Amino acid sequence: MPTPTSPPVRSRLPLVAILSGAGISTDSGIPDYRGPNGVWRRDPDAEKLVTYDHYMNDPRIRRRSWRMRRDLQALEAGPNAAHLAVTDLERSGVPVRVITQNVDGLHQRAGMPDRKVLELHGSARTVVCTVCHVRGPMSEALARLEAGEEDPRCAACGGVLKPGTVMFGERLDPEVLGQALAVTKACEVFVAVGTSLQVQPAAGLAGVAADHGARLVIVNAEETPYDDLADEVVREPIGTALPRLLRQLRP
Ligand code: ZN
Repeated sequence: MPTPTSPPVRSRLPLVAILSGAGISTDSGIPDYRGPNGVWRRDPDAEKLVTYDHYMNDPRIRRRSWRMRRDLQALEAGPNAAHLAVTDLERSGVPVRVITQNVDGLHQRAGMPDRKVLELHGSARTVVCTVCHVRGPMSEALARLEAGEEDPRCAACGGVLKPGTVMFGERLDPEVLGQALAVTKACEVFVAVGTSLQVQPAAGLAGVAADHGARLVIVNAEETPYDDLADEVVREPIGTALPRLLRQLRP
């Protein structure tokens, strides 16, 4: 317990927020589905697979959606150097929070604790019942697919199961959003990596970080609307640029 006469002790390292988008996972072989050139934009029928109303009302779309998830899982993508660099920073003692637009769970696979990863668009590793809202692992649902079910239903109530990802036409989780905003306002360094900063609300977070005095670093192959606000803009490949940048933030 410090006494009033104690000299100020700098006992805490500054909080680093990492906002990650699809670009951080492309090195892992995960295609950018939602981006401007993403699969969903090029194939309108593919977009239906991740649009809530189509998914709920069209069993044919639902069966296709499950088959797509099974095929995606078969890719067995693993974390890459950029994901590992974020974990290394956290393990060095620096407080780190990840805010991600990705649903691939690769930050956690790379060793980031679940509670330090805020998944704005949900998670493809879970399924949720649209009726009783019970959650379960995606792997279990896909095992049922392998066993011959085409449209696995909730084991508890028989309701339609959907992936734990936020579909088009669904709202983002306000609690996750609130936490992301709090982290953004509290951090001293905000690194936006692999995101074009064009999809809200993730994009707006970069502006909030800058408004609250954080050092804003943008690592992205293409220009973003926030480049002018940034203290540093890096266009190099993420797999080499991010590990170098984050090493500089270690104590
Ligand atoms: Zn249910």
